[in-house]
Amino acid sequence: MIIGLTGGIGSGKSTVAKMFLKFDGVVLYHADEEAKRLMNNDADLREQLCATFGDETYTAEGILNRQHLASIVFKDASQLAKLNAIVHPAVHRHLQHFIASHQEATYILYENAILFENGSSGFCDRIITVTAPIATRIERVMQRDQCSAEDVQNRMDKQWAENKKILQSNYIINNQDLTKTAEQVLRIHNFLTTKPN
Ligand code: ADP
Repeated sequence: MIIGLTGGIGSGKSTVAKMFLKFDGVVLYHADEEAKRLMNNDADLREQLCATFGDETYTAEGILNRQHLASIVFKDASQLAKLNAIVHPAVHRHLQHFIASHQEATYILYENAILFENGSSGFCDRIITVTAPIATRIERVMQRDQCSAEDVQNRMDKQWAENKKILQSNYIINNQDLTKTAEQVLRIHNFLTTKPN
């Protein structure tokens, strides 16, 4: 069973994912982390990225130069679309391997900030959306990433509005008070693992 875990930047997806991981047999696939890892380690991907965005896409030490990529894709939607067209299929293939090698899992939590935006909600059996007020989310990300409110807002503008995600989700977690969040996580885990009579 694949459980999609999504929510806007700063809603608390990673915080919620950690809570789910405390339950036996739950495994996490964090799309963003895996994409970063693949961009650094996958030779085909590296070749395609260099061919499209130039050799400066990687540092002399062979590490992905995120500033270079960001400077190209964040000001030009067509370049972002090119990047996604290269990276998403590679992550998707990797996810399929991951699923195949975790057949024994209670369920796979598939964390992806842009689950709906990139169309990968389609292969999830259930979808959880994490929510929090916009002002709270901005504040959290400013603290976490040491950036300005404007930077956060720019990143938010590229994501779907929360209520659009909520309408297409099976479960919503309102993540403000962490104790209440943990209660909601437990309730959802119980729903997901209770077999109907
Ligand atoms: P996301 O993965 O959705 O971007 P994170 O889980 O990284 O969000 O949370 C963003 C920041 O806010 C992190 O520093 C995290 O520790 C903090 N945070 C998340 N949820 C809460 C909460 N309920 N109360 C206080 N801080 C929180």
